[in-house]
Amino acid sequence: MYKGAFQREILRVSVISGAGLAAGWSLDYPLYGLIAGLVVSQIFSIRNADVLYKWSYRMGPPPQDSGLTGYAADRMIRREKSLKNRLLNQAKMLQRYNQGIEALKDGVVILDSAGHISTFNGAATRMLRLRKDDSGQHITHLIRSPHFVRYFNAADYSEPLQFEQRSIALQVQITEFGVDQKIMLIRDITERKRVETMRQNFIADVSHELRTPLTVINGYLEMFSDMDIPAPMVKAMQQMSSQSARMTNLVNDLIELSKLESASSERNGSTFDLHELCSQIASEMKGYRETADVVIEATGPVNIEGFRDEMHSALTNLVTNAIKYGDGTRVDVRIRVSDRGAQVYVKDKGPGIAPEHLSRITERFYRVDESRDSQTGGSGLGLAIVKHALEHHDSELEIESVLGKGSTFSFLIPQFRLK
Ligand code: ADP
Repeated sequence: MYKGAFQREILRVSVISGAGLAAGWSLDYPLYGLIAGLVVSQIFSIRNADVLYKWSYRMGPPPQDSGLTGYAADRMIRREKSLKNRLLNQAKMLQRYNQGIEALKDGVVILDSAGHISTFNGAATRMLRLRKDDSGQHITHLIRSPHFVRYFNAADYSEPLQFEQRSIALQVQITEFGVDQKIMLIRDITERKRVETMRQNFIADVSHELRTPLTVINGYLEMFSDMDIPAPMVKAMQQMSSQSARMTNLVNDLIELSKLESASSERNGSTFDLHELCSQIASEMKGYRETADVVIEATGPVNIEGFRDEMHSALTNLVTNAIKYGDGTRVDVRIRVSDRGAQVYVKDKGPGIAPEHLSRITERFYRVDESRDSQTGGSGLGLAIVKHALEHHDSELEIESVLGKGSTFSFLIPQFRLK
């Protein structure tokens, strides 16, 4: 088709130039005639190019020409048609994606590199109570929970975040994509939290109910221990006492754990001195085991914002473990303040923990050595309590242990909690 148009264009130039030459010949000026023919054919071509240019702007009916102009117009019409089809298909696909995102039960919010909202779906509108004109707003202006603001600014999105917004429990997971863009998936976990709370309440209620009969049993056992009991009964009485004490420990730890689990992470804490708390625990340990020597190393007061009771419980568990499973004498508690926050170390020189246990040791009822623990009387809940209490202080337990040399349990209270 292109070849035909090209030939017709050449033919047109040849015919016009030929006509000019023939006319010039008849007047005895063949050269002038040829030049006049070439000029006319050139003017003709320029006029055609002008028609094509003007048509390309306003489109409408294509220029009627059998040469290159007509061919070019035809090609442009075809290309435009195929582009239109492609755009239409892409628009349909985009619409399908949008409908899919809109139909999701989870909230979706797309953010630009700085954290301004680009777009969001209906579920996000409901969960976060967004309005149409919230596009362009910074996300932290709309979700003001301090937990979320800290999570967002820290830019470490490896773990999802749970927080409460207007009494709805939400879980947020941020993923980065493209050039510095972020997609935020929001899930309403209010119902899951409700079931979890029911389970926690059930455990707390059962534990509380067990407390009363245990107090009675312990009372009678204590009373019998002061009396003369027949020799064959002595061993049985001792075992009953130790098992009853174990059960009391277990019930107390269960109550403590469920209290920690049900405590809202949105509460306001108070300021207390970590150094002073460690000293208090060190003197309390004298009552736990006389031979234990808890050595505190810290430079001055370390004031932090948090929950004193929970930190007391976490540190007491770590120190009693260090005494129980350590060599029974010296435990080192060190507090070191740096620009990252306050790092607390609890170190013992006991037999240590084999590496394969370290990842599971904070699980409830996980014990490294069952036989050893039956003597030490642990409930298996101590480190689970520590883990929860530290979570409420935006901290995590780290364990370093070398078999035969001892263990160091440590955690970092982040800088923003230092007062
Ligand atoms: P328990 O109430 O049994 O002490 P924990 O949750 O406190 O439960 O500890 C879990 C297990 O981790 C313990 O049973 C013990 O085997 C091990 N463990 C904890 N602390 C130490 C330590 N300092 N040295 C060696 N083993 C430890």
